[in-house]
Amino acid sequence: MRPFTYERATSPAQAATAVFRQQGARFIAGGTNLLDLMKLQIETPTHLVDVQDLKLDQITQEPDGGLRIGALVTNTALAADRRVRSDYAVLSRAILAGASGQLRNKATTGGNLLQRTRCPYFYDTNQPCNKRQPGTGCAAIEGVSRQLAVIGGSAACIATNPSDMAVALRLLDARVETVDAQGNVRSINIADFHKLPGKTPHVETALAPGELITAVLLPKPVGGLHFYHKVRDRASYAFALVSVAVILERNGSGRVAVGGIAPKPWRIDAADAALPQGAEAVARHLLAGATPTRDNAFKIELVERTLAGILHDAKG
Ligand SMILES: Cc1cc2nc3c(=O)[nH]c(=O)nc-3n(C[C@H](O)[C@H](O)[C@H](O)COP(=O)(O)OP(=O)(O)OC[C@H]3O[C@@H](n4cnc5c(N)ncnc54)[C@H](O)[C@@H]3O)c2cc1C
Ligand code: SF4
Repeated sequence: MRPFTYERATSPAQAATAVFRQQGARFIAGGTNLLDLMKLQIETPTHLVDVQDLKLDQITQEPDGGLRIGALVTNTALAADRRVRSDYAVLSRAILAGASGQLRNKATTGGNLLQRTRCPYFYDTNQPCNKRQPGTGCAAIEGVSRQLAVIGGSAACIATNPSDMAVALRLLDARVETVDAQGNVRSINIADFHKLPGKTPHVETALAPGELITAVLLPKPVGGLHFYHKVRDRASYAFALVSVAVILERNGSGRVAVGGIAPKPWRIDAADAALPQGAEAVARHLLAGATPTRDNAFKIELVERTLAGILHDAKG
């Protein structure tokens, strides 16, 4: 690890200013992703701004009936919250499908949304990677790509977003609230929060330099039956090959979002509308234009089969 300086921020605006002012500064929350990347020298911050003291660790009711989740609420606290378990069960289930109990105790809501890809070549500093080092090329496209994207990627990068929580938040139409170094507050639709790679795969989110996530806002409860099925190589402690989040109404209508197949949680209006027609129709809309590699074409069928399993369980 390279030397760096460290401070504990005293207010959200001060934290944002501290990161904005010093090139190479980063926020640190639970540290479960950032410290791993620092040990591998994939992230080499010169200054860390610790946001743990910012009192952003509460879940509160919003006037419209929704919930406001502070950016520092841990994954454990969020998954266990009584209101989340009853009204947003898909979120609770998605979080519990991720990482391990110890990690979830440290991992925060803001940090989870910003965790980096698990593309193996991103972690291997001997390999070219446009995301880690812009302009060097992509070792994955001609390499081992079993875990990687079948849709939404580009000639520059086919990495997937690894967050389970983000898939549920996309299904729930959450918003991400931020503050920047000038004190401006904004609310970003989760659909617009993560960026597709295009020619700039290192630009992963809509955040500006120094912009701090302060909260995630859930709209009022939407009802329905909530499902989150994650398919992975091991029964636990593994990232998704494919994950499918569904909210289903009694008449068969609903919404569906998929993880593990794209650089961001994947949701398409036409696929939502096709839910009453069954898994095959939904998968056709969701994956229209997919360009799988030799290694990961199996994901196309896996999405349909995982959704079919959910629709079957829903009838039972
Ligand atoms: C072994 C292992 C297995 C895992 N398995 C899964 C899994 O199956 N599914 C899954 O979804 N996740 C998994 N994770 C990832 C884990 O969920 C993330 O590491 C964690 O959520 C990150 O949160 P954190 O608070 O520790 O973030 P940090 O490591 O502190 O920060 C991550 C990034 O977010 C930035 N950041 C943090 N907070 C803010 C903020 N408020 N505003 C702006 N920027 C901020 C930091 O600067 C950094 O760039 C796994 C992690 C490990 C180590
Ligand atoms: S897929 Fe993206 S993250 Fe993986 S090696 Fe290529 S550029 Fe890097």
